[in-house]
Amino acid sequence: MEDLGFMCARCGGEVHDVTHNREGELDAVGYRHNRRVEPWDHELELAVGAPDPGTPDCDFCGEAAPGWLYYPTLDPEDTDVFEVELDTTHLSDDDTATAVLNMLYPWYACDTCSVLVADRNMEQIIVRALERTPVPADGPVGEDVVRARLRGSLSVFFTTRPGRPQPSRAV
Ligand SMILES: [Zn+2]
Ligand SMILES: [Zn+2]
Repeated sequence: MEDLGFMCARCGGEVHDVTHNREGELDAVGYRHNRRVEPWDHELELAVGAPDPGTPDCDFCGEAAPGWLYYPTLDPEDTDVFEVELDTTHLSDDDTATAVLNMLYPWYACDTCSVLVADRNMEQIIVRALERTPVPADGPVGEDVVRARLRGSLSVFFTTRPGRPQPSRAV
């Protein structure tokens, strides 16, 4: 028996539930790709199946075979109060939840992005991500939403993830 769970029928990727982060709002949406930034090239197609864990891409720009890994530095289990920097302008509730959840996950980075991270050059990371995966004209979301998602997830990353990355082969 394979492990069944929610997945995206379009890309085969894992899906996670962000509904519990909403305040008293019942809504069927609440599911997001289990990625550091919600993809903007296609809409999540929720399905039940065995998600394909695949091989990781750079979580900043999408490049294949990233060589670096940033571990989470916050453990919410023994941290009662934590602060993250997050500008929620243009962010939906689910995008906000996704951005905050990112402090629990490792982030993979390619060589170029690891240099940009060391420089804390958020603007250049956003430019690079949008160059590599342009926002499709007929896509599910517009460029302002994509920029807000990138800015939100990256600002949570930068407030919770100081220090140097580990080589990702150590995983
Ligand atoms: Zn997908
Ligand atoms: Zn990258």
